[in-house]
Formats: sequence, structure tokens, C-alpha cells
Amino acid sequence: MKICSLGSGSKGNSTLIESLDTRILVDIGFSGKETTRRLSKINVAPETIDAILITHDHSDHVAGAGIFGRRYDIPIHITAQTLEKCEKIFHRNDFIELYQPSRPFVVKGILVEPFLTVHDAVDPVVFTLSDTSKRFKIGIATDLGRPTAQVRLALKSSDFLILESNYEEELLRKSSYPTAVQQRIASSHGHLSNKAAAQLACELLHKRLLGILLAHLSENCNTPDLAISTMEKAIRPKGFKGVLEVIPQNNPTPFLDLEKLRLDQSEKGQLNLL
Ligand SMILES: [Zn+2]
Ligand SMILES: [Zn+2]
Repeated sequence: MKICSLGSGSKGNSTLIESLDTRILVDIGFSGKETTRRLSKINVAPETIDAILITHDHSDHVAGAGIFGRRYDIPIHITAQTLEKCEKIFHRNDFIELYQPSRPFVVKGILVEPFLTVHDAVDPVVFTLSDTSKRFKIGIATDLGRPTAQVRLALKSSDFLILESNYEEELLRKSSYPTAVQQRIASSHGHLSNKAAAQLACELLHKRLLGILLAHLSENCNTPDLAISTMEKAIRPKGFKGVLEVIPQNNPTPFLDLEKLRLDQSEKGQLNLL
């Protein structure tokens, strides 16, 4: 399996997952044009995308999904409630495939498992994607609200994680955001702080975890250095030697090949992890 984020943050999120000849985009929060442009940067033709999965109705996750899906005739997997909420984005004749939270489904050999979160949207989920031989499981967890027991269980034993690390508490407090906005972000229905992300990552560490990409960083209340250093301090002492990077808002990440990371890992070893 390979993974590449096209970008992440409040101005748009989209992640490409590839397994053999299957390509799936999780969320399209950029415009259709911008999504095509970013795919061309990583040499992926939009026609080769097999499915689009939508996590929730916020525009930074769904804005370009309708137009992109229509243009390239790609099925959009979405819950009924999220679809209803996105009536301006999708048209009646769009290629829609409804899914239900907590009901796994398969897209061309990839097992997709959606789990409800407590984020402030109508029907928000995190996804895990596993290839059918179950060699790899990728967890994509942004817009979490707070990590519920169900979400922690869902993400457990992921081989690779995309994890939101939205804000630094101190910077949020000092920010120019009105109090109501600050409260919304920090509430149990908003986003995870760097500290909360690090705590969650500690719970999810295991010997086979290959890497963590930190996602959905606030432009005003966080910096890549703060997000990385908070995470490093928490997980490196526990023996984690995998990839740890921040996903930028404006550019795709490099393609990460989990097979290759697995080979690297067997050389380094993470034996002090269980
Ligand atoms: Zn959201
Ligand atoms: Zn978001």
C-alpha cells in the first residue's frame, strides 16, 4: 500500500491511498481544479481514481468532491445524512454509493471501515483502509472532537496513521479568535490539540507502526515545529523509530510506500515496543 496526502488543513484535505491497481481519495476539500493540479504533481491521472470517500460535511473535506466525481465519473461513498447536508455540492444524478458508519465495505479489494466520531458535523467518521490480504491497515483520523473509546479501538493496530494535531493550547488562548471560536475548537466536538494527539499516539504505538503524519494543523494556532516536537517527546522515548512528518496545507507529501517502510523498520527494529 502507498499513501500520499494532497494537503491538509482548514483550507482543504485529501489523501490518496493506493493498493495494487486501486486508488482511493479520502475527502476532497480542494476545488476540482486544484485537486487535479495536485494529482498531476504526483503523476496521478484523475481518471485512474476508483473511488472517493467522504468523512463529513465540512467544506474543507468535501468542497470539490461533487465536481471532481462528476468530471471523471468516480463513485462517491458518503453517508445519507452527510449527502443531505451537502445538497449544493452533489447533483441528483451523481454516482453516489451510500455507506453507514460502523458498517465496513469493500472498494476494489480495499476494506474500508468507517467509525463515528464526535466532531461537530452531522455524521462524521474516521476511516481505516486495509488491503485484502490484511498486510497493512491505514488509519485516517482528522476532525476527531475527542478520541472516543470506539475511535481508539478502531485505530488500534494500524500500520500507518494520519492523525490530526490541530492546535497548541497556549497559541489558541493567545489567538485573536473570538472566545466562542476558541471554545469550539478546544471543545470535545472540535479538534485535537498537539498534546491530545501525542497522548492518543502513545496509546496507539505498537511494534509494527510504520509512521505517523500529523494533519490539519491550524495556521494561526500551531506551527509544524511545535506539533512535531510535542509528538517526538511523547513517542520517541517509548521506542518509536518510524516516519514522523507534518502534512503541509499547500503541497502534496511524497508518496510513502509501506512495503519499503516495513523493510527499513525490520533493519532498525522497534523491539522495545509491544
Ligand atoms: Zn470538520
Ligand atoms: Zn476539517
